[in-house]
Amino acid sequence: MHGPRDALRDLFLQVFPKSLWVYHVNAGACNGCDIEVIDVLTPYYDAERFGIKLVGSPRHADVLLVSGPVTRQIVPHLKRLWDAVPAPKLVFAIGACACGGGIWHDTYAVVGGADKVLPVDYYIPGCPPRPEAIVYGVALALGLVTKKVAARHLSDEFFEEYGRLNPTLPAEAP
Ligand code: SF4
Repeated sequence: MHGPRDALRDLFLQVFPKSLWVYHVNAGACNGCDIEVIDVLTPYYDAERFGIKLVGSPRHADVLLVSGPVTRQIVPHLKRLWDAVPAPKLVFAIGACACGGGIWHDTYAVVGGADKVLPVDYYIPGCPPRPEAIVYGVALALGLVTKKVAARHLSDEFFEEYGRLNPTLPAEAP
């Protein structure tokens, strides 16, 4: 039977018929996420079995892998990198910092997560994410595995109860 996972994989193969070439950019990371990205490329985790290859120029890439919170200083460079990647292209945010700024989200030197500057397609959380989580995120993007979680919308009753139990906290989700 042709399910949603097959449809995603078909669409992905239509848009990216060949191996995915990846350019890794550190937008302000502590290096923890970068080490895990390198780990994914070692023979132990062997991301190349999915056709994923690290390249040295954004002009050769299909995917930008962004790690770290986006610092104010890197913003124009990140935009230039994005422009240099030929379409169609994807952005993966690797780690809590790239997903939303992490513990640096409100510091003066940081604008937030990668999606403050780039259209992020996939978020892989964790501080840092384990190599298995990165491999899983990429396999999900390729349509090789099924998504395990779904978006959930909280009801008004939930927020009323939340406000009752936490009177000193804001009554609504940010
Ligand atoms: S998510 Fe954690 S490991 Fe990754 S850059 Fe941020 S602080 Fe470092």
